[in-house]
Amino acid sequence: MLRTPGPTPVPPKVLQAASSEILYHRSDEFRTIFRDLSNNLKKIVGTQNPVLTLTASGTGAAEAVIQNLSNKGEKGISLSNGRFGERWAELMSLYGMESATQKTEWGKQVNVSVVEDFLHNVPEVSMIWIVHCETSTGTVNNIQHIIERIKQHTDALICIDGVTSVGVHELLMDEWGIDVLVTASQKGLMTPPGLSFVSLSDKAWKKINDMPQKGMYFNLTRALKNYEKNTTPWTPAVSLINAAKTATDMILSEGMENVWLRHNVLADTFRNRMNSIGLESFSENPCNALSALKIPKEYPDIVERLLEQYNIRVSKGQEHLEGAIFRVAHMGWCSESGVNEVANAIEDIINNG
Ligand SMILES: *Cc1c(COP(=O)(O)O)cnc(C)c1O
Repeated sequence: MLRTPGPTPVPPKVLQAASSEILYHRSDEFRTIFRDLSNNLKKIVGTQNPVLTLTASGTGAAEAVIQNLSNKGEKGISLSNGRFGERWAELMSLYGMESATQKTEWGKQVNVSVVEDFLHNVPEVSMIWIVHCETSTGTVNNIQHIIERIKQHTDALICIDGVTSVGVHELLMDEWGIDVLVTASQKGLMTPPGLSFVSLSDKAWKKINDMPQKGMYFNLTRALKNYEKNTTPWTPAVSLINAAKTATDMILSEGMENVWLRHNVLADTFRNRMNSIGLESFSENPCNALSALKIPKEYPDIVERLLEQYNIRVSKGQEHLEGAIFRVAHMGWCSESGVNEVANAIEDIINNG
């Protein structure tokens, strides 16, 4: 039983779609599927703009954004309260940007006031990254509020890492003023790993159009040109696109409000059961995609025992949190019986030693 915060399990129907016959990516059959997937994604993230599909994991989409939208020497900041926030700051530096990390302690929500002070002193920032759900600590950032506040101080492009939040938490790209959204197939979207999705606001497209073209595989201008013909510039993972089309159909037929509510109920159900046996949440503002729980002193090997005795695979903490927390996902293709099965196993370990 896979309960890691990515990849996540995939419904049988989606697996079936992934194993259907291979389509030529310039055929009408493929174009229809690609068009339907693109339209589904637009509804899921709440945008009128194109959502481009890239054959790469989530990091690939973030790299595409920074490669296409940054100039050497421009300033970028990443509001970081965990590992992914740090990754995007590193990526900006690798592309020659002057990047700064606005750090908040891991497990807390990003501190907007500190960012506002920074922007007051350094107004010429061109790109700001915010992670919606920080998977390393199981924390959700209230990005709607954060965006509203920082937009009063900057014209920077607001880039959201929605990899573990799309299909889990409410996210309305256009309404919330998001300029760049990246997400991936293997978390809340219940599709196998290997695809990422990126959408840009008009403002972000304008910047790209005014810049020299950069790169080839991840060239977003070329991706957009082909998107308009319902295909991709290079041979995409056609099987995964088929799978993603089926998965997003399922998500939309459940309805976004229902999908968000289901995740909220699953997270509450799981954490209430954990709290009742004395297991505490690590995060001060826990997200609905996963629970990061403090490892009880008496059971340092809880992750290994869940795998060996119950065949349930969960994740350890990362970096300095390895040994301190473990992370259990309840996103994507997940129901109440799924979270209860994990809760039963953990309870069994705690109650029976
Ligand atoms: C999983 C994840 C990513 C992307 O990682 P990939 O392995 O490249 O798909 C990015 N951000 C967050 C918050 C994630 O959880």
